[in-house]
Amino acid sequence: MLTAERVDAQADVHAWSMDAARTDPTLSPLPEGDAVDRLEQQLRTDGVRWIIGTATNAAGLVLAKSIPAPRLTAFVRSGCGLSPAHNAYGVDGSVVDAASVPHVGDLRLRLDPSGVRMIGDGIAMGPTDTFFQDGTPDPACPRVVLAKAVRDLAEQGLHAMVGHEVEFVLVRPDGSLLDPGNWRPYGANALLGQEELVLDLLAGFERAGIGVEQVHAEYGEAQFEVSLGPDDPIRSADALITARVLIVRTARRHGLMASFSPLPEVGKVGNGAHQHLSLRRGNEPLFSGGDGPHGLTGEGAHAIAGLVRGLPQAQAVLAGSALSGARLQPGGWSGAYACWGRENREAAVRFVTDGMSNPHGANVEVKMIDASANPYLATASLLGLALDGIRRRLPLPAEVTTDPADLSDTDRVHAGVTRLASDQAAMVDALESSEEMRRILGDPVVTAVLAVRRHEQVLFAGMPPEGVAAALRLAWS
Ligand code: GLU
Ligand code: MG
Repeated sequence: MLTAERVDAQADVHAWSMDAARTDPTLSPLPEGDAVDRLEQQLRTDGVRWIIGTATNAAGLVLAKSIPAPRLTAFVRSGCGLSPAHNAYGVDGSVVDAASVPHVGDLRLRLDPSGVRMIGDGIAMGPTDTFFQDGTPDPACPRVVLAKAVRDLAEQGLHAMVGHEVEFVLVRPDGSLLDPGNWRPYGANALLGQEELVLDLLAGFERAGIGVEQVHAEYGEAQFEVSLGPDDPIRSADALITARVLIVRTARRHGLMASFSPLPEVGKVGNGAHQHLSLRRGNEPLFSGGDGPHGLTGEGAHAIAGLVRGLPQAQAVLAGSALSGARLQPGGWSGAYACWGRENREAAVRFVTDGMSNPHGANVEVKMIDASANPYLATASLLGLALDGIRRRLPLPAEVTTDPADLSDTDRVHAGVTRLASDQAAMVDALESSEEMRRILGDPVVTAVLAVRRHEQVLFAGMPPEGVAAALRLAWS
């Protein structure tokens, strides 16, 4: 178990995990030898024996290859081998439809030394990018795709920051639900009921150099949230993956497990994976300082228009699992309607203005995303849709200032507010026929996402939602 003394002893770990080996976050295929040498030295000093490199696939599963620490350079330069089929391992652990995802061939998972973080007990972990054997980047690699979305923005002089919220429900190791006891949503004693676990978690985040903004007991029974600070989109997604691993690792040490499933139990509150996004041109924010509604600049308004318009097409990526539709019900603050509104928790795009209560500045919180999404692909989708809105100068739709469920059908049609799909087949069809999403993510990614989502459709056809929720409770853990 982690102790305060050990955290103190490693107080400078933050420095190396964030800075020592930083390379270009928009993907530098072969990092400088110096960066690798510095990291190697630091890992040795910190007693790291084992390095795990993660690859998150189209079904949102966090996969990994690992090496003994002395083989760091090989992991960074030549990579570890993995079948191209890995991108389409399904939520049940089986390999999906061989026709859409090749089973022959080998990919190289190359560790990005800039993302390596200490997760404790001699173990370090970092993200990988996928390359073909000849050294060209794999267009189906989610991290490569996000790097491209970041570059597309940069070519237009735009930069993004992203912050992730991590909701999870603590369950027993076999996935069964805990007795809620005296649970109260946002309860102080609900939070303190897991005080040892939370303290260990905070120690783990600190050691890994992951900035935590806040921790609270959420609305659902045994549900908690950790909100992460904003950062460059790639580093943020990397931090999110490490955060999920740390949450599971810590829960396990306390005899529990953590479920990130969109809906751990039917009829209860779901888990969101909300992403906060802000954009700036040079140093000028797009979501504040302008003369549009709530200080929106013209480009900020177009970006929100692009997001709201594109969410239904991106839903299979953002919240497209067999359970995601059941989470996206009105009244659960999951953002079940494709619309936007200031501080509107029922809108898929909640606008958060700047001001003294918001030191990070104005941003949009895309609430409909859940943890069945690959976070790299989810962010790439948001960036691509926002950029599309800016390029096409899409007009900002009317702001929704009330609960969209309270509007009459006519008013919703008038305001252009649509309900996001709750049927997985509809999400899959919308992605399949979206030229825009194919442009943003590329055909190989769309093919992989369609394959894993269709696999779920077949797997759970005819199964009552309670069965699906139980089957998938630990799928993303
Ligand atoms: N648990 C809700 C969801 O499924 C979100 C609650 C909140 O706004 O924090 O997205
Ligand atoms: Mg929350």
